[in-house]
Amino acid sequence: MTSYLVTGASGQLGRQAVAHLATIVDPAQIIALVRSAAAEADYAAQGIATRRGDYEDRASLVAAFAGVDRLLFISSSAIGSRISQHANVVEAAKATGVGFIAYTSLLGAAAREMLIGQEHVATETMLADSGIAHTLVRNGWYSENLMISLPQALATGQIFGASGEGRFSPAARADYAAAAAVILKGGHDRQTLELGGDESFTMDEFAETVSALSGKPVRFVNIPQEALADGMVQAGLPAPVAAVLADADARAAQGLLFTQSADLSRILGRPTRSYRDMLAEAIGPTA
Ligand code: NDP
Repeated sequence: MTSYLVTGASGQLGRQAVAHLATIVDPAQIIALVRSAAAEADYAAQGIATRRGDYEDRASLVAAFAGVDRLLFISSSAIGSRISQHANVVEAAKATGVGFIAYTSLLGAAAREMLIGQEHVATETMLADSGIAHTLVRNGWYSENLMISLPQALATGQIFGASGEGRFSPAARADYAAAAAVILKGGHDRQTLELGGDESFTMDEFAETVSALSGKPVRFVNIPQEALADGMVQAGLPAPVAAVLADADARAAQGLLFTQSADLSRILGRPTRSYRDMLAEAIGPTA
């Protein structure tokens, strides 16, 4: 019986990936990698097995991966510390004879040229060097990233960014999670998949959609990358995180968060979730 392990299983992407996987394979074949008693209890209540493991502790990963055939390796959220953490995951998988790894990377060109992609590029190289069969699940931008600006947009009528006329083709986290589960199950091994939503838009178009759905005039205001980073710091983000996010936005102006690949809807076997629907749900009924 094939054994599937999902890392980052207590996170937003991982929880949804495990939930989808449980609908397409026998839940008894799934192991969720967690770090806390709370996450263990959550999964116990769902009848899903857990193992403890920390990306910082290779020995814990070697113990957790024992007997695992197929691994969904969700990239760490610890931006800046990921290269050594990810090396621990790949080395532990090698030591325990894991047969296949699906790794959640970043959309191709973006990964090469964005600050936020550098750790993904390094991890893709580690995987290639490991000799383990793997699939690169290169996720594009999450639609949820853009929804973060919604409360401020509705309150002030402005959305600030540095993406200019650049197009985004983001997808919902739930769609990326479902695709990751499908890829883990099988049928997409040894591939490089570029995932994004079926629709694309500029931030001007996004603002127009927000205006139409909310009935409030909202416009996109393009500002320099440095000013965007400063604004994020003033809003409470740590400076290194603000720098990485502002870099991503500025690179989006060059089209790096846009893809015409239909890999995501092909893997899902349905269209990706519309960002308009997500916006309409987030905005709620208007008077
Ligand atoms: P979350 O922050 O919700 O979850 C992060 C997960 O990683 C948690 O399960 C957390 O465990 C786990 N984790 C963190 N550090 C360690 C560690 N040292 N050892 C083991 N597990 C660890 O993130 P998401 O699920 O939303 O995102 C998953 C990935 O996607 C991340 O790499 C994130 O950077 C990336 N991402 C990409 C976006 C895009 O637009 N392309 C947007 C948002 C995220 P615990 O609960 O124990 O802390």
